[in-house]
Order: sequence, then C-alpha cells, then structure tokens
Amino acid sequence: MASASPSSHLNKAVRQSYMMLSQAGKCQVTYVWIDGTGEGLRSKIRTMDTEPESIEDIPEWNFDGSSTWQAEGSNSDMYLIPVRMFRDPFTLDPNKLVLCEVLKYNRLPAESNHRDSCNKVMEKVKEHCIWFGMEQEYTLFGIDGHPFSWPPSGYPSPQGPYYCSVGANNAYGRDIVECHYKACLYAGVKICGTNAEVMPSQWEFQVGPCGGIEMGDQLWVARFLLHRVCEDFGVVASLDPKPVMGNWNGAGCHTNVSTKQMREEGGLKHIDQAIVKLSKNHREHILVYDPHEGKDNVRRLTGLHETSSIKDFSSGVADRSASIRIPREVGQNGRGYFEDRRPAANCDPYLVTRAIAQTCLLDPEVQ
Ligand code: ADP
Ligand code: MN
Ligand code: MN
Ligand code: MN
Repeated sequence: MASASPSSHLNKAVRQSYMMLSQAGKCQVTYVWIDGTGEGLRSKIRTMDTEPESIEDIPEWNFDGSSTWQAEGSNSDMYLIPVRMFRDPFTLDPNKLVLCEVLKYNRLPAESNHRDSCNKVMEKVKEHCIWFGMEQEYTLFGIDGHPFSWPPSGYPSPQGPYYCSVGANNAYGRDIVECHYKACLYAGVKICGTNAEVMPSQWEFQVGPCGGIEMGDQLWVARFLLHRVCEDFGVVASLDPKPVMGNWNGAGCHTNVSTKQMREEGGLKHIDQAIVKLSKNHREHILVYDPHEGKDNVRRLTGLHETSSIKDFSSGVADRSASIRIPREVGQNGRGYFEDRRPAANCDPYLVTRAIAQTCLLDPEVQ
C-alpha cells in the first residue's frame, strides 16, 4: 500500500525475535498523557524493578512541557501523576500502560488537564451512581492524508452499503478494528462493541458502561491503543468530526448516560427531567463538546447525516436526528438511559461527562 508509513514496512519477523527476549525480571511502564492540544496523546517508558500491583506502586514522573505545548521552556518541567493502570498489549505482561494526569510546576492542573475538575464533579454526584458509555467514531487515513483505501482520485460509490458491512468492496481496514478490539480487551479497557460506519473507512467502537470519572480514563486509553495499532499498520486514525466535506457522514462520540434512578422502575421520569435541564444549557454544552468551542462540531452538526443542528436543541424516542435520543427499548421499558448525540469525535470525554453530570445533577432545579 503506497500510502502506508515506512515504519510499518520494517521487518516484523526481526522485531519478533527481540520481543521474545526475557526482561530479566524488570517491568516496562509506559506513561501516557494528554498534550497541550487537548487532543494529542504522548507517552514515554521507564523500567521498574518489580511489577506494580496497583496504581499506588507507580511513582510520579515528569516530562518537558515545552515540547508538548504545555509550558514555556524556562519553566518546563511538568508532573505526571499516575491515575489508572492497564496491561500493555504490545509488549505484554508484566508490562503496564499507565494513564497520567498532568500538573504544572506549581502542582496545579495543566490547562489541558480536565480530569481534575471532572473528578471533583463526579465526587459531588457520587450518590447518583452515574454511568456513561461512549461511542467513538473515527476515520482511517493514509499517511498521505487521503482517506484509507479510497480511489486515488474521485470518490467511492455513495454511502449506503458501508455501515456494518462485510466484503472487500465495502469494509476498509478491518484488520485495524480487530487488532484494536483485542488490544483493548487484553489491556483491561472496557470496550463493549464495534461496527463499520456509514462512510467508507469510518468505524466506531464503544466503551462502557463506566462509572463517573472512569469513562474519561477508559476512553483516552482506548484512543491511545487505537493510534498505536494504526501506527503498526502504517495508517492514521483521525478523530476529525467532519473529515470529508460533502455528502459523507461526520464522526461523533455519542455519550450514553444513566443514573441509578433512571435505571430503576419509573426511570423515564428522571430521564425526562434531565433532558429538560439539558435543553436549557444547549449552548454551554456545545462549547465543550469539541476542543474548539463548537468550531469543529459546526461542520458536523448540520441537521443532515443523522445529526441535529448545532443551533437547536431537540430530543425524541428513537430519533437519530435529535440532540438527545431515548433508545426505543428504553421508551418501551420506561427506564434505562439516554444518548447525547452532540459530542464530536475529538471531544475530551472528561469535559463531556463533567458537563452532563453538572447540568443534570448539580444545577438548581428547573422551575
Ligand atoms: P447506538 O444504537 O447509538 O449505535 P451503541 O450500541 O453503539 O448504540 O452504543 C451503546 C452505548 O450505550 C455503549 O457505549 C454502552 O456502554 C452504553 N450503555 C448501555 N447501557 C447503558 C446505561 N445503562 N448507562 C449508560 N450507558 C449505557
Ligand atoms: Mn453506535
Ligand atoms: Mn455511530
Ligand atoms: Mn449512537
């Protein structure tokens, strides 16, 4: 494939002979963090003498924030605070991946660290046992910036056959999807499904349900694994919410939400109450549903291609052109969860889940 990266063509059999070497009792720990763009992920590795049993066993670390758009060169040391540990699906047991929060020189959260404020809201709403499930859509590209497996000039045939498809003419890049799924399961990421999307070379995976702060942690690590698997195959996963303009679907990150009350008998009443609150805070939510205050999502939320308009709030049972959809079986059972369809594929899940918890559970009662 001409558009795959040179690194992906390196001799993998040679690599494998090194991967089989013993580690002499040591453990490799890969620290993962969100960079100053609020979208990019970075990582670096250190050796530990013994395998960490839990997150408490993993020490703080640091990095050069002036190289990640997170600090000035004159005061560039940033702290890495381990928050959640996973198994490493690339170099295997006993090695670990550890997601970190980033603190500045003064130990306050970096501007791109929204986990800290999200966690504070989740602590406040603890008694509601809020669960989230997020549907991460993404699009595969060659390193030449051309959609993966699209004809070199012109377009594939129009949308219709690609969603949940099978066959070489319809499903582009399934190797990546399958390898990412396995990598998530091995790592301990709560991936719960995957499907091919409406636009060719566009796919989705779902993570959840996750309680409170865990949603953001799990989704960020699932994204790290996606980018890392794609690197092996020499292609790029884009989270741009409208990667191809025109008559092609965009990419979102639908966020499914329930509280204990919503999941219990008569829960629909609580879902309706949450939707009323969300309707009064539409603009505030749009501002945090992509990293650029709605400027990315405005290309996607047009009211076409299974989206609502960015300007208007709407809701409905089984309605995929609404801002908020109540799944049909939830309407029928009278309890369950709702789906916020507005977040963009490149959203920060900490900001999305924080906004939802804040609006639905902490803002004063709507009259
Ligand atoms: P869709 O029909 O919108 O494509 P998916 O099957 O792709 O739905 O995704 C459903 C999502 O809903 C999953 O992420 C799942 O974890 C989440 N989910 C299921 N039940 C609940 C619940 N009670 N609370 C919150 N999220 C839930
Ligand atoms: Mn879905
Ligand atoms: Mn989808
Ligand atoms: Mn959905």
